[in-house]
Amino acid sequence: MAETATKTKPEENLQFQAEVAKLLDIVVHSLYSNTEIFLRELISNASDACDKLRYAAITDPKLLDDGGKAFEIHLSVDRTAKTLTIADNGVGMNREELIANLGTIAKSGTAEFLKALSGDKAKDVSLIGQFGVGFYSSFMVADKVEVFARKAGETQGWRWTSDGQGKFSIAEADNVARGAKIVLHLKKDAEDFLETFRLRKIVKTYSDHIAVPVILDPIPSEKKDANKDKGNEPKAETLNSASALWTRPKSEITADQYKEFYHHVGHAFDEPWHTLHFKAEGAIEYTTLLFIPTTKPFDLFNPERKSAVKLYVNRVFISDQLEGLMPRYLRFVRGVVDSSDLPLNISREMLQDNPVLRKIQGGLVKRLLKDLKERSEMPEDYAKFWDVFGPVMKEGLYEDFERRDELLELARFRSSLHEGWVSLKDYTGRMKEGQDAIYTITGEDAAMLKNSPQLEGFMAKGIEVLLLTDPIDEFWASSVGVYEKKPIKTVAGAGDDLAKIKGDEAEEKKEEQGAAAEQAIKDLIEKLKKSLGTAVADVRTTDKLKGSPVCLVADTGGVSLHMARMLKQHGDAQSLAIRKILEINAKHALIKRLMVLSGSSFDDAAALLLDQARIVEGEPVADPVAFAKRLSSMLEKALG
Ligand code: ADP
Ligand code: MG
Repeated sequence: MAETATKTKPEENLQFQAEVAKLLDIVVHSLYSNTEIFLRELISNASDACDKLRYAAITDPKLLDDGGKAFEIHLSVDRTAKTLTIADNGVGMNREELIANLGTIAKSGTAEFLKALSGDKAKDVSLIGQFGVGFYSSFMVADKVEVFARKAGETQGWRWTSDGQGKFSIAEADNVARGAKIVLHLKKDAEDFLETFRLRKIVKTYSDHIAVPVILDPIPSEKKDANKDKGNEPKAETLNSASALWTRPKSEITADQYKEFYHHVGHAFDEPWHTLHFKAEGAIEYTTLLFIPTTKPFDLFNPERKSAVKLYVNRVFISDQLEGLMPRYLRFVRGVVDSSDLPLNISREMLQDNPVLRKIQGGLVKRLLKDLKERSEMPEDYAKFWDVFGPVMKEGLYEDFERRDELLELARFRSSLHEGWVSLKDYTGRMKEGQDAIYTITGEDAAMLKNSPQLEGFMAKGIEVLLLTDPIDEFWASSVGVYEKKPIKTVAGAGDDLAKIKGDEAEEKKEEQGAAAEQAIKDLIEKLKKSLGTAVADVRTTDKLKGSPVCLVADTGGVSLHMARMLKQHGDAQSLAIRKILEINAKHALIKRLMVLSGSSFDDAAALLLDQARIVEGEPVADPVAFAKRLSSMLEKALG
């Protein structure tokens, strides 16, 4: 039945949200050659719509107003009008939903996406699906798109239409079937999408795994074409296998089919780095097909840190927003879990804290970590994973107490002595005689950390230090505490450990510290404290330093300076009160010279040393003008 826009109610003209308009502009003008993905996106939406209605009808069977006809997706071609139509009998949309879903982008990350797109447009348009803007890819092939939709349970139908140029319009329409029907008025250079062999091939390639049948309707114009298929009435043709991929035996699934399924469930376009497909049999039965992506999903660091694995009960889609299915530190995992041990009519709320779900989660995590362990034995391969998802996995170190040891085994770090990724096992295997702790230093940048004065003493003795540069490191490092009975310490908190460790360094001759020398140091410390006042909480000596005269550390037990800076950026007032300690290298020539200075030259030198220590730590100098003045006057004296 043909829908007609009613005359009594005029069309309403509406503007696309600014981001959508911008996106459409890019889509319409892109030279992206792989335009056929629009069909995958529309079929994927149609299949989602059927899933949604199937679920809603469990509790409200009246929604299926057609007497329970099977869910289907129909493709039809009109060669005269040059249109390709994709129709489904899923959940449909009402006026408000049409405006919200096809006029705005609700998802966070849109701005980043647009930024990413403005680079190499042709290439990056392929990211469209990942950003949840798949519908708009229709405008790659169509210069006008009509959507006829009626929401399940409602009687009024709607016609949405747009040419993708900043505006769309909406009007009531009569005789609209439940679900959604997308009519694409194909651009001149996209008319090959009217060819059946083309459609057949695209559906087979991208949408074979879709569980709803994708049916190609008979094409009227082919009926008249007597040369082809003489005497054969054209019949509707199902183009896909239409069985849920995860229910098929592994041996019957090709790598390409896995990949396409991953693209569908993950809204992704990359190769899966890992595929895990298994059936758990036992107290609780479930089938799962999970993927670890190769590239970073754009919303990886959204504050919600939502899991993205979809739950099915007996092949009925239930939810893709379940807290309980995947721990947050595995939120990059994509895929499905299908169990028959959950009641079909279970509400999403009830699932939040369900014991069966918790057991399933336990099973999934166990298998995933086991697979990761296996692949971690191939360092080059594993590095590809850790580069991308390491910072997320480390969240598990303080969120998943039960599996902390397993996660520590999987964790990799940068090191002061070795290139590439280092495991804790590597580290502890080459600890020095007398060393019984794992030393770490945190900061923004590994190269900078390597040159930190804090490491000088460790470097001189050839003691390895782990360089922690992810913001997350500050959180777990203080809470984890030990690995295989070895305490994890920051170099600032190493105290006099260094003296006890036998390093590579030729044994340093103990400088005989006479009572007089000791007193001189004590006096200097007092003088420095007085001169620097409240700028530092304390002054003390250290044997950590070799080439540098001073360094600045946070009061041990408290947070590191790096952490304090991070908190400050987030407006945490407490961090303003962070206590800083100036450590001095008593053996350094400069410090020895300092002992004989007094008056304003002493104060200037002390202030300069403190500022220097601040700069090296990545802290701002307190008063740049005063700093510059002192530095100039010092230089003048030195050069004069
Ligand atoms: P995504 O599928 O990632 O949400 P899309 O741009 O593909 O993003 O679609 C936007 C939204 O429009 C969907 O989330 C859905 O709510 C709605 N939608 C699209 N196609 C259909 C359809 N065939 N039936 C019902 N709703 C649809
Ligand atoms: Mg979509």
